[in-house]
Amino acid sequence: MPHESRKPLTRIDPTAPLVLDTSALGRQPGSSREEHLSVPAPENFGVEMVGVPEGDPIGLDLRFEAVLEGVLVTGTAAVSLRGECSRCLDPIASDFEADFQELFVYDDTRSGGNADDEEFRLEGDLIDLEPVLRDAVVLALPLSPLCREDCPGLCADCGVRMADAEPGHRHEAADPRWAALQDLAGALAPAPPDRGDEGSRPRGSSDRREGKQEG
Ligand SMILES: [Zn+2]
Ligand SMILES: [Zn+2]
Repeated sequence: MPHESRKPLTRIDPTAPLVLDTSALGRQPGSSREEHLSVPAPENFGVEMVGVPEGDPIGLDLRFEAVLEGVLVTGTAAVSLRGECSRCLDPIASDFEADFQELFVYDDTRSGGNADDEEFRLEGDLIDLEPVLRDAVVLALPLSPLCREDCPGLCADCGVRMADAEPGHRHEAADPRWAALQDLAGALAPAPPDRGDEGSRPRGSSDRREGKQEG
């Protein structure tokens, strides 16, 4: 019975810095080797407020082990993160290390039952480490990074960095009656001219929702 395994094997770019060649293992179960290398970070290697600038080095300590169904890759990635504190917007620079372990299955091996498409596959003798590193590093990054655990952020009234402000920095609290009056004034102010003809929309109750929908 002809069993063909002719998937197009052209997805991996052999020249990409995170594509690694495992042919030295000779597909001999039990053989292993280690590699220490530094590769340039791919683009968008981070989350919105923190990440590794494109081209900055990613230090990799890798161990490749041939097993029956593929190559097991165990490693550590070390990067220098750049970002912004989500409270005070100060620049952040810190070092970060992530461990990972992933089995790359030979492309002519059937996936054994656990047919998740999350399976990593070799293409020939090549593995693409980038998705593994993204899982290990990018997914571990904080969405709201802080310059320090207890960053006091910015003054809500004047925007000064609270860390720089004198102790007890505060503004005369607005008289709550004024606040109430301002709310009232807002509610009474003539509504901005309606776009189109939605003339019957209730005023003053739903402005918070509407103001912010730009993204
Ligand atoms: Zn901060
Ligand atoms: Zn202030």
